[in-house]
Amino acid sequence: MPVQTIVVAEDDAAIRDLLTHHLEREGFAVVGVADGQTALRRARGVADLVVLDVGLPGIDGFDVARTLRRERHAVPIVMVTARADEVDRVVGFELGADDYVCKPFSPRELVARVKGILRRSGTPVARERPTLTFGRLEIDERAREARVDGNDVRLKPREFALLLELASNPGVALSRERLLQKVWGFDFNGDERTVDVHVHRLRSKIETGWKLPPLVRTVHGFGYKFQRP
Ligand code: CA
Repeated sequence: MPVQTIVVAEDDAAIRDLLTHHLEREGFAVVGVADGQTALRRARGVADLVVLDVGLPGIDGFDVARTLRRERHAVPIVMVTARADEVDRVVGFELGADDYVCKPFSPRELVARVKGILRRSGTPVARERPTLTFGRLEIDERAREARVDGNDVRLKPREFALLLELASNPGVALSRERLLQKVWGFDFNGDERTVDVHVHRLRSKIETGWKLPPLVRTVHGFGYKFQRP
């Protein structure tokens, strides 16, 4: 069984280090993050499970969980809450958390919860994220990697997310607004030109760089669509 990666999102370094230590001792790979933005990014990418503190700087844990679920990320989430009155929201599954612990908690208890969830879910994350293949292009969601003829195209995280969103809906015209929402999220303040800039980079990295036929088509006055080669 491959090593499973746990993202520990906790801004208190002492707690983060303690959890990291206990999880690593159980054979997990741990990615520690200290703010909501980074938690969201890493949860979308490497995580087999996220341990998510509610009180995070930037985007709080509630919004991180809500955003992941809205994006249909199935990654299991264990919420860590400092206040008993938050538990209702957490376990009410409004947020789609799989379990919770209240501070103060014992690291052993948390590790037991993590293992229990992963055992029950049987690492669905790996199965639910197949690699999309379009001719010479492979889009590997697990590795967050796009490859042409087996070579990593080295996309930046947003470029990858944009490609994945487009390629997950081949032939479907997606509006700039929807792409902004799905790829940049609710907290993004930029305008729709950002999408154009990233599409341009995608095209130059994939289509121009590797001489592939046009994959991302412009839908004038609306947005973009992915075209199967
Ligand atoms: Ca905190």
